[in-house]
Amino acid sequence: MTLSMLAHRDEVGLKDGLLLVDGQWRASGDGATWTHRHPATNEEIGTFPVATVQDVDAAVQAARRAFDEGPWPRSTASERIRVLRKYSDLLRENSQQLLSLLALDNGVPLSFGNIYAASVTVAADVFDHHTGWIDKAGGETFPPYQGGDHLAMTFREPVGVVAAILPWNAPFLLFAQKLGPALAAGCTVVLKPSEYATFAVLKLVELLTEAGLPDGVVNVVTGPGDPTGEALITHPMVDKISFTGSRVVGRRIVEASAGTMKRVSMELGGKSPAVVFPDAEIPLAAATAMGMVTMGLSGQACIAQSRALVHRDVYDEFIAVAQGVGGYMTYGDPFDPGVLASPLINERQLGRVLGYIEKGQEEGARLVMGGNRLDGDYGNGNFVAPTLFADVDNQMTIAQEEIFGPVLAVVPFTDEDEAVRLANDTEYGLGAGVYTKDAKTAFRVAKRLRAGTIGINGFQVEPHTPFGGYKQSGIGREGGRSAYEAYTELKTVLMPLTEAMM
Ligand code: NAD
Repeated sequence: MTLSMLAHRDEVGLKDGLLLVDGQWRASGDGATWTHRHPATNEEIGTFPVATVQDVDAAVQAARRAFDEGPWPRSTASERIRVLRKYSDLLRENSQQLLSLLALDNGVPLSFGNIYAASVTVAADVFDHHTGWIDKAGGETFPPYQGGDHLAMTFREPVGVVAAILPWNAPFLLFAQKLGPALAAGCTVVLKPSEYATFAVLKLVELLTEAGLPDGVVNVVTGPGDPTGEALITHPMVDKISFTGSRVVGRRIVEASAGTMKRVSMELGGKSPAVVFPDAEIPLAAATAMGMVTMGLSGQACIAQSRALVHRDVYDEFIAVAQGVGGYMTYGDPFDPGVLASPLINERQLGRVLGYIEKGQEEGARLVMGGNRLDGDYGNGNFVAPTLFADVDNQMTIAQEEIFGPVLAVVPFTDEDEAVRLANDTEYGLGAGVYTKDAKTAFRVAKRLRAGTIGINGFQVEPHTPFGGYKQSGIGREGGRSAYEAYTELKTVLMPLTEAMM
């Protein structure tokens, strides 16, 4: 039977979306809307406003007023802690509805929502983690360097109005990674969800009001990069841009931020390697690498280890296990608990991924499995079969560019030096995996890899550890104290206690 999402939409009670400006939910100024099509069927699911330049201006002005005059940046630690702790509880209580809305947004199966990194629980834990800094991350006092009795001290103050821009693939975690530290630090926010995952994010924002966040502290502008995102990143009253998304848009944001010297935090893409040594547990390594590019998001995950570098002695075994894992993937209705993997987010991404697969074959890689769009009952959706390429040269396009689809490229290596050289031979540096039973090899290689997060014999997202990229994978880190501090300015105050000093 041909797949349809319309009954799920009605059961979940999805309503058309609105903008949130200064506590008021409303349509866009010119009435323009975006129609969301479900990636598993391309059916129309609902609409939300396309915020105009004037709507974005109203949202930024509201956030500015809330920052300059409102109670939130001036609230006590206990006031802020109370609101944000209540919010974490509300997230946990509403997790099922949030997961259902996300399945209607981006087609990620409910079965995947039980995995911690994709769950609402991880978002609640990230909020808890950053809420914990509110009464701990203060300034310092310093002993005087010169003669005389005087005080030299620093204060941490909220950075101001934050433009938070989300991608569509992991909105729970990324919403929390941005709004958790921003709100804990006392900032105000204009949030732009991705046009491909808006409905679940609107629910996340509704819960902020329920938790007691004052009007104007978080405003939401919905719509695509042009005009909505552009109006936000070029607005002179925005102090900081916190962005997760593609490298192309990241570059545009760095350019746009220069005019008023906005602070920027960037979490961009990756082409992360899994480095597999001959003494590794090969079934674990192959299942993790192939699972990361297929299960749940069908490889549409920045941290996917989409490039496996495998020692020649265990190469054939690795390929055989990875092929077996690919064969387990199931597709279809994301509300069906037996479905393990999602469609690609839109037809443009479908075309891109199929184009990379064609390029891989043209450049001489061996297609072991997949490579095709699914047809039959799933023919209206953007499904691509699990795809495995062997005999890949690290210079091939499929080994260098982020495909963001269910494609694993397996490159052979001979010794550790070659493995490290190949692993680092990319413009990205988001993550990596090292697979070996030898602890010294594991740590030695982890130290030599130029990437922000290294998993040894596995990879597990943690809400309190720094996460981000070397090289072109980003600027700054999310998670941990440094992420909280990235939403603050550091002020130094000097006060002579005796005669005036210079
Ligand atoms: P994208 O860059 O196309 O879009 C991201 C967001 O930017 C969306 O909200 C989009 O509307 C907005 N946008 C687009 N053009 C804009 C402009 N000119 N000005 C302002 N905003 C604009 O990315 P995507 O397809 O949503 O997500 C996939 C990308 O995100 C991949 O490259 C992936 O690796 C990356 N990603 C990175 C991380 C990480 O933590 N490093 C996490 C998830 C996704």
